Parts: sequence; structure tokens; C-alpha cells
Amino acid sequence: MNADCYLDHNATSPLRPGARAALEHVLDLVGNGSSVHADGRRVRALIEDARETVARFVGVDRDALVFTSGATEANNQVLRAAATAGRRILVSAIEHPSVAALVPDAGRIPVTSDGIVDLDALDALLVDDAENALVAVMAANNETGVIQPITEIAEIVRRHGAVLHCDAVQALGKIAFDAGAMGAHTYAISGHKIGAPAGVGALIIAEPLARPDALIVGGGQETYRRAGTENLLGIAGFAGAVNEVASNWHDEAIRLAELRDALEARIGEGAVLAGREAPRLPNTTNIILRGIDSETQVMALDLAGIRVSAGAACSSGKVSRSAVLEAMGFAAEDAGSAIRVSLGWTTENSHTNAFVDAWTKLAERRPAAA
Ligand code: PMP
Repeated sequence: MNADCYLDHNATSPLRPGARAALEHVLDLVGNGSSVHADGRRVRALIEDARETVARFVGVDRDALVFTSGATEANNQVLRAAATAGRRILVSAIEHPSVAALVPDAGRIPVTSDGIVDLDALDALLVDDAENALVAVMAANNETGVIQPITEIAEIVRRHGAVLHCDAVQALGKIAFDAGAMGAHTYAISGHKIGAPAGVGALIIAEPLARPDALIVGGGQETYRRAGTENLLGIAGFAGAVNEVASNWHDEAIRLAELRDALEARIGEGAVLAGREAPRLPNTTNIILRGIDSETQVMALDLAGIRVSAGAACSSGKVSRSAVLEAMGFAAEDAGSAIRVSLGWTTENSHTNAFVDAWTKLAERRPAAA
């Protein structure tokens, strides 16, 4: 890693040793998992072992798991299929763009000032015309770490006869996550957020009847749910990361929550911490420093060797105001002066201390009026 102080694990997390070992194991293998000869069968067996590993970790049968190129693709598949089928679509106001941008005219489910989906509003939105509806609510927000009550949301959605999709990218490996028990019909997960290589993820179809039409067609792979030769390296790396995370996520969550809480305590009164009152991921804090825009903060911290993000890491590299914070009722000025600090398996006390030192210097440079 070339970063002294990498505190951007919600954007992507460094390759875990377990993933690296799995990659090395398959790097020189030859064979297409669809070929019937011995080499093909060996690759097929590895893919199916990996499917079993990931499926077990998320609490579903292996048939429920479709490997994709990532969560963006999995979210796209579900939302695109629903839109094509003419379903009524409702998405929470804080969804990732890979959900929200697909159906720009979808109904929006508001969130409270804590960043939690407003359950009464959801219930009211589903009073009419619910049988044909698809609802999308993420398990935990990538910018604030706020955890959504998916089980309760699923109960409301099911009571009205609608279908629930859950983007569980940020929950995986950070909090208890049981796709079989939480009640959503489909879920999206991603490998690189838990220390697998980027470019692999999965669509989980927990309810077989909710199976969305394939987005990528032209082959029978993944039982016709996702065409294309499987990404053996990515899939093996995903399972390697999952194996490691399965054995230590709970201890890691406790360790990271302690580091995060100590960081927030040292930041003190000088900042507003978005979503702090809500249940949050153990590794995430969202810090609003009034008077300095997010981009300037990120760049100043970068110069000090500290890697953080302004809200969602936007693919264009452009930093804009956080739509998530605006949905929580923060003023535009606040939503434009927030940074996200997200810890992970490589984070140590020295990193969070270095962050606080650099951030404190930044806060002292603020214009007096702020
Ligand atoms: N959903 C959420 C909540 C995310 O944080 C991300 C990653 N930024 C994605 C979806 C997209 O995942 P991927 O990078 O695997 O396409």
C-alpha cells in the first residue's frame, strides 16, 4: 500500500492476506468453468466451492447466489428488471447511485434527521398500489454508516405485498448479516469492500420467485441469471476474503468501534458528526467541519498523508455536496463540508491519531466567522 494512513475502507479495502492466498492459488490455473474436460471441471469445482463459502457466510443456499462484476451490476440487474416489468419503484432518499440513478423518477422514501428510513412514510407510500411495487433500501449507508432496520422494513414491505431489494454492500463483514433471515427478497454485495479484489460481487436471490431477469445475456452461466465466463480470480479472491472475515469480523468490529469512538471523542465539539445518534457501522464516522468545503478538506488531509473521502467516492473524482446529508435535513453548506472517515482491517491507533492531529490543524485554519 502506498498510503501512510488509509482511512477510506468504505470506498475500497486493501487486499486481505486470505484473498491474496486464494488469488495465488488460482493464478496459473487454466480452464473455462463451462468446459467439460478435467481442467474445466477443476475450475468449476473452485467456483462452486467459492459460492458455497460466500452463500454460507450470508446465510443463504448456494443456489441463491449469483456472482456478478460487483454490487453496481447486481443493483442494476434488480432495478432494471423491475423498471422493464413496469413495476412501481420506491427507493430510499439515501441510496447509492447504482440504485438511485437507474430509475430517476422513482418514488423517494424519506429518512429522519438521524438518517434512518422513515417507517411511517414507507408504510403510507405502500397503502395503495403496493402489489406491483419494488422497494429498495440499503442495509447501511456508505457515507454515514447509519444502519437501516431492514427486518422491520421487510415486514412492512411484505405486509403490503411488495418486494424488497437491499444493497448490503457496507453491512457485509462489518455487522451481523443474515440475508436468509432479514427478510429482503434480493440483496447486492461487493468483494472489494471486504478485502477481495475489485470487480467481483454477488446478487443474492433469497426468494427464488423474486428472481430478476438477467442484465447480461448470451450464455447459460450462473443458471441463466448472469451470462459470461466467470471471473475465477475475482470469485476465488472473494471467497478467500470471506473466509478470513468470517473468522474475525466480530473482534474486528469491536476493535474498530473503539478506535472510531476515541477518534470522535478527540474531535470534540469542533465538528458535527452526522448520524451519530443512530445505530452505525463500527468503522465509519462522517465529520462536518463548517467553513471549509469537503474537497479542500480531503486535499489538505491528503497532503498530510491521510486518505479520506468526501461523501461517496465519485467516479469522476469530482466532489459535490452530499445528497445523503441533504436528505437528512442538513443545510447545503453543511452537506458540502463533510468528510467520511472509514476504518478497516489495516487501521491502527497511530492512523486515527494522525488523522485527528491533521484534522485539528485544519480546523484551526478555519475562517473566524465559521
Ligand atoms: N452500494 C454501496 C452502498 C456502495 O458503497 C458501493 C461502492 N461504492 C456500491 C454499491 C457499488 O459497489 P461496486 O464497487 O462493487 O460496484
